[in-house]
Amino acid sequence: VFSHVVQAPEDPILGVTVAYNKDPSPVKLNLGVGAYRTEEGKPLVLNVVRRAEQQLVNDSSRVKEYLPIVGLSDFNKLSAKLILGADSPAIRENRVTTVQCLSGTGSLRVGAEFLARHYHQHTIYIPQPTWGNHPKVFTLAGLTVRSYRYYDPATRGLNFQGLLEDLGSAPSGGIVLLHACAHNPTGVDPTPQQWERIRQLMRSKALLPFFDSAYQGFASGSLDSDAQSVRMFVADGGECLVAQSYAKNMGLYGERVGALSIVCRAADVASRVESQLKLVIRPMYSNPPIHGASIVATILKDGNMYREWTIELKAMADRIITMRQKLFDALRARGTPGDWSHIIKQIGMFTFTGLNPEQVAFMRKEYHVYMTSDGRISMAGLSSRTVPHLADAIHAAVTR
Ligand code: PMP
Repeated sequence: VFSHVVQAPEDPILGVTVAYNKDPSPVKLNLGVGAYRTEEGKPLVLNVVRRAEQQLVNDSSRVKEYLPIVGLSDFNKLSAKLILGADSPAIRENRVTTVQCLSGTGSLRVGAEFLARHYHQHTIYIPQPTWGNHPKVFTLAGLTVRSYRYYDPATRGLNFQGLLEDLGSAPSGGIVLLHACAHNPTGVDPTPQQWERIRQLMRSKALLPFFDSAYQGFASGSLDSDAQSVRMFVADGGECLVAQSYAKNMGLYGERVGALSIVCRAADVASRVESQLKLVIRPMYSNPPIHGASIVATILKDGNMYREWTIELKAMADRIITMRQKLFDALRARGTPGDWSHIIKQIGMFTFTGLNPEQVAFMRKEYHVYMTSDGRISMAGLSSRTVPHLADAIHAAVTR
């Protein structure tokens, strides 16, 4: 009965790793997936995560019972505090409901399903370009996806005018997906002044902000700085949604731990919203997994562990920034034609190189360097040892 099923294409991002794994070359380099690697090219488990896990294992009172539908209560409170700020009036006034979800993706999906059922507008505006999973997550949740101009290939920066025009002509009440920081794939973020213009425009048109925060702490190395865009919107007293992921900033990729917060105008509204979120979650996966959320709660709750985490997080962010400089210097040293300053200007895990699909294919075939076809490279996958090889590959692709 399934013989008619046709082969589906590989996921455009995860498929890069599938191709990479098949390549026998000893010099192969995977810059496709946004997962942090050490200078030695190895995945990293943070020391503080190991410590928290040890503590959890040693605690014989811990059991494996189901969590509530909305997840671990401490985790939810601490996650809201982390993104909105310890002194957030919205938290103090009990206007925020936070539910533990399956990492960033699950948080986006639960938020979108909620909006499809309970919000009067079903159109969500996403930046052009954006993370490839966004349109699929929102469409399958029942929303209509439209895009707004974001990136300007000519300047390799923000198309701020285009963004303002597109959001300015969106119908009142539309939902707008915003990357809280370290925009993926472009690495281009609005300045604080530009964020303020965006906020004013959106509030004046009653556009509903839905923040995707997958890289808090990864952009600047500071958890507070990377949350400024979200906090600006919460400070004005209006509604917003935030999807948080601990995949990158705690290195908990496979633990699938994240949170959806919905900031409302009043405590009774937040409480009713939470009751409806439960109805979204229960038939999807009943309740979330306990382990990852317990690790996060253990770390966020303990002053020492929290500090240790911020130090390790800063070290990851700094290593990425160093790789940007090294790659930029290596291209300059080779005299590679073009202005490569965007490599050091862009923010977060990725550089949007500006390489075209043919150049990307050439680098894969001749240099065994793997990246997504849009020319996005994960700086977190680079090391001092591999920068020269990448610079050679880019130089050859550009001067071919
Ligand atoms: N949003 C963005 C912008 C991302 O880059 C990612 C991860 N690549 C996610 C959400 C979701 O990641 P996860 O589900 O692993 O937390």
